[in-house]
Amino acid sequence: MGLFWSKPQPPPEAPLEPTQLAVVHLTNVCNLRCVFCLERADRGGPQQPDLAEVRASLRGLRETGATDVVFMGAETLLRQDALDVIRLARELGFERIRAATNGTPLARTGYLQRLADAGLNAIELSIHGATAEIADRIAGVPHTFVRQAKALDALAATAGIAVTVNMVICRENAAALPEIAAYVRQKLGPARPIQFKFIFTHLLGCAWEQARDAGPLRYADVDFLALADRLEVAREDFFIDNAPLCRLGRHTSRSLKLKSFAGDETYLDRAADANTYLSTGFQLSGQVWPTQPCGACTLRPLCQGVEHQYLRLAGRAELHASTRPAIGVLQEALQLHGHNPRHAKARLAALALEPRPAGVVSPLRVGFVRLTHPQVREPLELRIEATQPDKPCFKRTPRFDVAYRPWNEGNATDNLQVRAALEHAVAVLTAADAAGASVENARAQVAAQVGEGWSGAAG
Ligand code: SF4
Repeated sequence: MGLFWSKPQPPPEAPLEPTQLAVVHLTNVCNLRCVFCLERADRGGPQQPDLAEVRASLRGLRETGATDVVFMGAETLLRQDALDVIRLARELGFERIRAATNGTPLARTGYLQRLADAGLNAIELSIHGATAEIADRIAGVPHTFVRQAKALDALAATAGIAVTVNMVICRENAAALPEIAAYVRQKLGPARPIQFKFIFTHLLGCAWEQARDAGPLRYADVDFLALADRLEVAREDFFIDNAPLCRLGRHTSRSLKLKSFAGDETYLDRAADANTYLSTGFQLSGQVWPTQPCGACTLRPLCQGVEHQYLRLAGRAELHASTRPAIGVLQEALQLHGHNPRHAKARLAALALEPRPAGVVSPLRVGFVRLTHPQVREPLELRIEATQPDKPCFKRTPRFDVAYRPWNEGNATDNLQVRAALEHAVAVLTAADAAGASVENARAQVAAQVGEGWSGAAG
């Protein structure tokens, strides 16, 4: 089944146009208490930008060229001024205006139509159960199922709204996912295009606490293949998120992150930092690719890896290195998502340069220089500081010490590329010392002059 809203497709030989998706966080307030919640206003206090701040955010995002905006929450439609926010996005020229919602505010008669009249033309609706027992248990609030059913009825009766159904996969619904999709289909009718997103629970917030105390839902507890087979037979449009590619079998191209990687999607998310926007790399924060088995996996450049919290609790036994050529998988994904498969080679080359670390990469601290190389799995972190005779180090110049952080991949100097980087760094440092550079300046010189295919950043 095709998408309700789709961007115009380029002619076959046109270069792949990167896609920019603007994300604006409207509130952390919610009326539900879902078991896997990432946002809990009752823990950190309510946070909500006012309309002027939302306007400034939207303006900035439009200036980058974004035409597609999604409003995120907690529950976006609890805002009293939700209609004003939607109108604002339309006035500023956004073409696709989406709101993420748990659906319960849409149970109010006529509210969805008013949102549509204001300019809303797409909705990301969270539905987690096809029965009151499951839906209410997950939401932690009675009558959730009844109110969401009314929201689905309102959607069925309202034209012009594209529908994405987000389903977080958790213990409570893992065995009922095809039935939930069938329930939504039955409520919206056979002709309404729907995009289903099945999201394996992210181990953050409440989900992390629950998994830490009671053990996580495992990849192996979810029959991704049977789910995908059922939806494919039903000719539904669907994606699976937060599951490594090796768990998706012949449905690998249904990975939501692979869709993003293939289409060069950038998420312009200003809330995280007032001055910068986040790129596709943001989608990989907190993800890791354990040396075994990912080091030998042909799909590593295309794979979103494993949440490090999941790896901590569940280990890597469920992962299996693939031998499928990445180029073929990427071609398949490009084709499935309406792009020209000829872009696969260029996209693969770009993706191969993205870091795929075996462990979590922490923020760069003052005093360190981080060196990365596309063919070396783990970044190399050098501590460069004024000489301290009692402190062990790798090399010492008259005024500076250089040391490298313990390296998970073994002795750093056993790796020829790493050894070359270390020797080069020492040579730069020695020259900087002789020229009278300050320690800050010496670090900057090492980061800038590392060479040999390495890139550097100084903390
Ligand atoms: S890179 Fe690792 S997690 Fe990803 S598909 Fe390969 S083995 Fe699985």
